[in-house]
Amino acid sequence: MKRDIRDLTKSELNDAIIGFGEKAFRTKQIWEWLWKKGARSFEEMTILPVSLRDKLSEKYLFNVVSIDTIFKSEDKTTKLRFELFDGQKIEGVLIPSSSRTTACISTQSGCPLGCKFCATGKFGYQRNLSVGEIFDQVNILNNLSNTQFQKSLSNIVIMGMGEPFLNYEAVMGAIQKITSPELMNISPKRITLSTSGLIPEIMRFADEDCGVQLAISLHSANQQFRESIMPIAKKYPLTELIKALKYYHEKTSERITLEYLLMEGINDTLNDAQELAAFCKNFPVKINLIQYNEVVGIPYKKPSPEIVTDFGSFLENKNLIVNIRRSRGNDIAAACGQLANKK
Ligand code: SAH
Ligand code: SF4
Repeated sequence: MKRDIRDLTKSELNDAIIGFGEKAFRTKQIWEWLWKKGARSFEEMTILPVSLRDKLSEKYLFNVVSIDTIFKSEDKTTKLRFELFDGQKIEGVLIPSSSRTTACISTQSGCPLGCKFCATGKFGYQRNLSVGEIFDQVNILNNLSNTQFQKSLSNIVIMGMGEPFLNYEAVMGAIQKITSPELMNISPKRITLSTSGLIPEIMRFADEDCGVQLAISLHSANQQFRESIMPIAKKYPLTELIKALKYYHEKTSERITLEYLLMEGINDTLNDAQELAAFCKNFPVKINLIQYNEVVGIPYKKPSPEIVTDFGSFLENKNLIVNIRRSRGNDIAAACGQLANKK
């Protein structure tokens, strides 16, 4: 069976090239075609002799991501439904603002963690994405950013479908290619990875200290309640999460982003804000307050703008850094997992 060329490490690729009786400099050429120029076929690699391209295509293939549908919102947010080689659907979003263009990408088709408020969680789990499939989304969204807004991506958020830390190797493999100065060369500082709080992977990520920003989907600082909306919180309780995040901060000196999704009558009272403020005393944080994006078939509602403002002001008065995120692309169902779900 043919293997996806983009699953090879550089040394595996080199072994293959030498095995074909070719010179080692071809490895570097092919590597750059794959991860710098974003090649999606061997035919594109015009610098290679046809004989080598033939040898490569006898043994390897490209499992590319293709655009299935593009949905444009009135606020210029563009959501893409992608199709994978095996027919799976995932999604990515391009979010422009005056100063930046941000790509939101997926790491799994579906997600096994089943958070109660999340459309992806409801969708169930299909499979992990490969390095090439994660990279392709960035490349496609970067091209789209260039054609639509005449500028390259400035930021990447790993906040689409899936739990990135359940697909650790592939996610880090893709980040390595995206950030390498010899390859795509996007600064790791401009990438944010969001996790629901998998402790062993937070520790591993801390040790790697790759410069990528870490965001934690907290949504509640109350253990009992958090468990009720995020089943994974039973396995990784807040007491352990605090220890892991302290470790992360010690290792990287980075501020931690906390994502807090506000849902009406669920986690939006001043008592909830108080608990959140207490949680934030443990390490330097930045809080993103996100107004819940309502999902058909899920009962949660978004709170009124006043409640969001009051919640934010309470935290600001405790000297915490707070960003209020109004939801973008509402008219096109841009929240996590809503599109791939749409038949
Ligand atoms: N699995 C990871 C990353 C993907 S989810 C995680 O949970 O962090 C990215 C973010 O979208 C998370 O903070 C998640 O809680 C949030 N989210 C999920 N459903 C949402 C919705 N309907 N409206 C707004 N944000 C949502
Ligand atoms: Fe998975 Fe994140 Fe959705 Fe939870 S919020 S189900 S971890 S994608």
